[in-house]
Amino acid sequence: MKAVGIDLGTTNSEVAIIENGQVRVLPGEDGDLILPSCVGFSDTGKLLVGREALRQYAAAPERTVKSIKRWMGTDHKTTFGDKEYLPHEVSAIILRALKQRAENALGETITQAVITVPAYFTDAQRQATKTAGEIAGLEVLQIINEPTAAALAYDLRSEETERVVVYDLGGGTFDVSVVEITGEVTEVLASHGNNRLGGDDFDRLLQLYLADLFRKQHGVDVPDDAATQARLLRAAEQLKIDLSPHAFATVREAFLGSKGKTALHLETEVARADFEKLIRPLLAETLEAIDRALTDASLEPNEIDRIILVGGSTRIPLVQQMIQEHLGQNPTDGIQPDLCVALGAALQAGVLVGESVDAILVDVIPHSLGIAAAVPTPMGIMPGYFSVIIPRNSVVPVSRSHVYSTVFDEQEVVEIEVFQGENTVAEENVPLGSFRVENLPPKPAGGIEVEVHFDFDLNGILTVTTTEKGKGQQGMLVVNNAGIQKLSSHELKQARADLDALFDSDETIEISAEDSIESVEIAPELAALLDRAGQALLTVDSEQALELQDLLGQIENAIANNSPELPQLEEELSDFLYYAISNESE
Ligand code: AMP
Repeated sequence: MKAVGIDLGTTNSEVAIIENGQVRVLPGEDGDLILPSCVGFSDTGKLLVGREALRQYAAAPERTVKSIKRWMGTDHKTTFGDKEYLPHEVSAIILRALKQRAENALGETITQAVITVPAYFTDAQRQATKTAGEIAGLEVLQIINEPTAAALAYDLRSEETERVVVYDLGGGTFDVSVVEITGEVTEVLASHGNNRLGGDDFDRLLQLYLADLFRKQHGVDVPDDAATQARLLRAAEQLKIDLSPHAFATVREAFLGSKGKTALHLETEVARADFEKLIRPLLAETLEAIDRALTDASLEPNEIDRIILVGGSTRIPLVQQMIQEHLGQNPTDGIQPDLCVALGAALQAGVLVGESVDAILVDVIPHSLGIAAAVPTPMGIMPGYFSVIIPRNSVVPVSRSHVYSTVFDEQEVVEIEVFQGENTVAEENVPLGSFRVENLPPKPAGGIEVEVHFDFDLNGILTVTTTEKGKGQQGMLVVNNAGIQKLSSHELKQARADLDALFDSDETIEISAEDSIESVEIAPELAALLDRAGQALLTVDSEQALELQDLLGQIENAIANNSPELPQLEEELSDFLYYAISNESE
């Protein structure tokens, strides 16, 4: 039985296979190795996946969705016709298309896969990815981290230990990992990233830059309708790609606007240096992430043996230059940066189904996992402290236990609230779910001990169980995270049948002109602001943290609902950060 490796990317996806010891990315019918991670419906309601969907994005953004990976693990809905799709359901469509691509290329049915995710993905995002695979009709043998897959693809197996920085800048996510490879063992020592930073942001910055040039040239704005803006965005992306090999490139977009009865065109030459000015601050953030990952791995830059670049955006010369200047060595090249993750996933899939590939995989957990606990202090019991059970960067699979005692006399109930994150205040981390251990016998404070056991498996899925010491009573956590639940077998069957129907060539859905999908893009300014807010949460006092969390919640809702209140909220957040931070430095 053959198993494929899948790089399910924000912008592009690929499927690869190992056959007779050779690993290769499988092409689609058009010969293209890359499948754009884009899904849409034509004006007649026919399902479109990949380049076909991407092609209509400019003309029909309301019927097309890109970058769905940014929403994985949330309950953000995309509406096509009268049907709503959750992010993992859209991803299932992409995975199903990749499965079909592999089956066409190999002439046999494929039912097993290894799928990659950014090292920084949360538990909910991993679970959603696994569910997407299952809906697509794939048994997900393993979810592995993208940097680990990339390192596997480079096959850096030698007797000596090599320490490798894997810098992955794709379309929508950024990840940096420090990986240690000894012989056949690949271990992620540390990783950092921002799952909302990538080439899409560079496109948006260029889009704004081009809109500005157009205004200066013609004295009027580029029309604000979705179709025109989507064309401008597509032109911006092409310009960005042209500026990788060339120091200057020309952008030509005819009939972009009008003044009275005169049609207006955009035609201008852009220098790479001007593009670099736009993206430099975002790239500087990625260098900070490298430093954080190195610190976590307790390594100095001069202890790094090799730098691997992953993701299409690392073809930008400034990316390579800034990394070289920062770490004092040139990145290794050899494998195309946008294919190496899929190749590594295929190698791992081969290992799991017994192909003769001898690489062993060791992964780490990206976020600390623990529970909210009450701690005794001189002033009394302080609740809500984040007690870490599995620290971040632990090698997986990992199981750890911790014993907690009751803090009150005659305490009957213990609430187990599970979080992931790095903040010492439990509430400020990501809640994963909770459950209660009830009917405890009446005992004085400290008289009852409950063991909390965390089990984190190879797919990054967490199971929490509790045992009351002496009684053996068991409680178990059903992780019911962010609206993503494991599907029941009936639900899974139904979801698969729906997908089958969509892929049957004649099946269409009703599309009307008014149908629209919610925008799945976040402006880079807002992304940067949210990032700063995340940092601020770690430093502000608890009253301010509550206020900030409230504001972030409102912004999240506004983004999900495309609310007109978003700019106002953005301004409030900007003001908040300004005052919070300037007060802090006083
Ligand atoms: P990936 O997610 O790894 O497939 O990377 C996709 C991103 O890489 C998109 O934002 C592309 O626009 C970008 N990209 C692809 N080729 C180039 C290139 N030659 N120069 C700059 N960016 C590129």
